[in-house]
Amino acid sequence: MLSHEAEAYNLKVIFLPFLSTSHMIPMVDMARLFAMHGVDITIITTTSNAEIFQKSIDRDFNQGLSIKTHVVEFPAKEVGLPVGIEAMNANTSIDMADKIFKGFIMLQPQIENYLFGEIEVDCIISDMFYVWTVDVAAKLGIPRIVFCPASIFSRCTELSIEQHSSHTKVESDCDKFTIVGLPDKLEMNRLQLPNWVKKPDVPFGEMIKVVNNTTRKSYGAVFNSFYGLEGAYEEHYKNAFGTKCWSLGPVSLWANQDVSDKAERGDTNVEGDSSLFKWLNSKKENSVLYVSFGSMNKFPSSQLIEIAHALEVSSVDFIWVVRKSNDKEGEGFMEEFEKRVKESNKGYLIWGWAPQLLILENKAIGGIVTHCGWNTVVESLNVGLPMVTWPLFAEQFFHEKLVVEVLKIGVSLGIREWKNWNEFDTKDIVKRDDIAKAIGLVMTNRKEVEEMRLRAKNLSDDGKKAILVGGSSHANLIQIIEELKSLKHQRHYGN
Ligand code: UDP
Repeated sequence: MLSHEAEAYNLKVIFLPFLSTSHMIPMVDMARLFAMHGVDITIITTTSNAEIFQKSIDRDFNQGLSIKTHVVEFPAKEVGLPVGIEAMNANTSIDMADKIFKGFIMLQPQIENYLFGEIEVDCIISDMFYVWTVDVAAKLGIPRIVFCPASIFSRCTELSIEQHSSHTKVESDCDKFTIVGLPDKLEMNRLQLPNWVKKPDVPFGEMIKVVNNTTRKSYGAVFNSFYGLEGAYEEHYKNAFGTKCWSLGPVSLWANQDVSDKAERGDTNVEGDSSLFKWLNSKKENSVLYVSFGSMNKFPSSQLIEIAHALEVSSVDFIWVVRKSNDKEGEGFMEEFEKRVKESNKGYLIWGWAPQLLILENKAIGGIVTHCGWNTVVESLNVGLPMVTWPLFAEQFFHEKLVVEVLKIGVSLGIREWKNWNEFDTKDIVKRDDIAKAIGLVMTNRKEVEEMRLRAKNLSDDGKKAILVGGSSHANLIQIIEELKSLKHQRHYGN
């Protein structure tokens, strides 16, 4: 498992993941990859965030890797949160999210103390939101590499829109504009754009401006991607942002080769559910649809009811990862629905957190309904699944564009408008017939779907090759390590 590329120089790299599950998961995978290649790794986070991944780190450490977590204290009292609420996920209200972000900003002095302490640090790999690490790295005379949890494609698209303002040159929100200068000719409309792109003066827009500026000032950027997936955008990024750019994925496939790592990823309390896998193993190859909306989503009951009806009338079996809604509408409906689909052996509901990597790699899974969160897109690609795309917030409309129009491996549900996280209007409820139509299509063996499946399978093969010795992601990882060694040499010996 351990190679010795970095050992001779005893490189010490700090990883700083943001306090949200889906930023943390891929970044911890990435940190573990550096450790597997001989780099001494410290992941800095808060107590309850560390609990999400600590078991994997302990397993790596016990196998001889130089990897540990350094815990800093989240200022719960100061920001007015109960102890233990330190990460953004599906249970976080907007009010809590603001407080978590405030607490996140307050971590700076504690982390700075550590970084300027006794230890010698050779590089900081920082989540894009830790914007101040640019200055700290400059003071320490070491490189800062930025981690962005989205696709390279989405970063390039956002930058193009920021630079060319083509979205302001059309009359209505529904008019299409061209995204200038990308490797592919693509169009979007204003409804599909995140708030911070459309209205850069909203508070989060100000934050993204700082993220972009600090990204440009960084030594480079790392992404959970691979050359066969976004190679043209990896090259484009280097010119657009004027920094280095490395794809290091698929990180989930590369780092999590142990069943326990896969089962516990994102929630170490999820025990292997034997009835789930017994049920899945009883199903035919490619016959089950996986429906999940990531780590942050909580639909209102009215939307859950529409999804339930669509799944029940469809001819396919399904696993649906669902979160209890906070509203009272349709009370009892989901329980009845679960009972019916269990009795008919048609569906399996997972309330809360699913062992997604283990489910996706099961041969019975034949397609996915996804919100186009980047981790899930890459994880579905690892196993070559065609997708039904249902983007909601963040960069998800950009990812839909990539999946449906560039990679041509997905069927769009036709969602019209970007929304703030967990903000739903009754007019936004997607109707059962539209859902049923899209899932019916993606699970058939019609020619166009078979072609999608084949393209997804080819991408999956590319991803598997990328992480092997000689593959693009492997070569990128070795290149970063070599550059860090050489920079360390220059710091010590002057050339
Ligand atoms: N995930 C999981 N179980 C769940 C929900 C999500 O393991 O029930 C993982 C999933 O495998 C992925 C991440 O959480 O790695 C979700 O990230 P993504 O970028 O897809 O979406 P987000 O959570 O940012 O909306």
